[in-house]
Amino acid sequence: MLHSLPKEDNYLHKGLRKQLVQGLREKGIKDERVLAAIEAIPRHFFLDNAFERQAYEDRAFPISAGQTISQPYTVACQTQLLELKKFDRVLEIGTGSAYQACVLGEMGISLFTIERQKELYENANKFQLLKKYPNIKRFYGDGFEGLLSYAPFDKILVTCGAPFIPPKLLAQLKPGGIMVIPVGEDKTQKMLRIFKDTEGKVHEETMGDFSFVPMLQGKNNNA
Ligand code: SAH
Repeated sequence: MLHSLPKEDNYLHKGLRKQLVQGLREKGIKDERVLAAIEAIPRHFFLDNAFERQAYEDRAFPISAGQTISQPYTVACQTQLLELKKFDRVLEIGTGSAYQACVLGEMGISLFTIERQKELYENANKFQLLKKYPNIKRFYGDGFEGLLSYAPFDKILVTCGAPFIPPKLLAQLKPGGIMVIPVGEDKTQKMLRIFKDTEGKVHEETMGDFSFVPMLQGKNNNA
């Protein structure tokens, strides 16, 4: 990972980003705050220098530890589904490259994000861009457990394919809160939007098929 090397964000990158955002609009992303955050974040900072152009194609890309940086459309779609409000407390499962985290950070919410791969958690320590977002707090841990000491959360976003809805995450969601989680153990998962009403009753909507790396139990400390 080359996160520690200085990178520039020049007019070429900004132009490619505008095109990417235009493409996302055409694919149905309407939340202007989400589009503005994607336009602001230099996605090429999250990839090796050799892949600067690919950073602005609408596709997922391999990062370390056999994981991926999510496709921009997926990031936009999941973020839009969260219906974020300015001071929301949000829990993200699967920090990965921290791209999705920075998109959320740029939107001004208060983010708590967990990663189970020590290597990825430690890579992000060296990542200068994250210094811009004191509203992002990162944790090395198992997302199935959530973050009890910081709960409850207004919104929960899972960025790996879960075998089922983790009960501890559901318990850490505020009444009136929304959880966006891809569920399924095959190649593709169903994107679920879960709404917990003020009485604590849970309502589920299915928002289409997506493909994520799996949500795995426990931590992996092969850094
Ligand atoms: N949001 C990331 C997506 C990374 S891919 C991004 O923008 O780049 C999904 C990530 O979820 C991987 O880094 C994987 O290691 C992590 N993951 C899988 N199971 C997990 C778990 N139980 N707890 C925390 N993170 C997990």
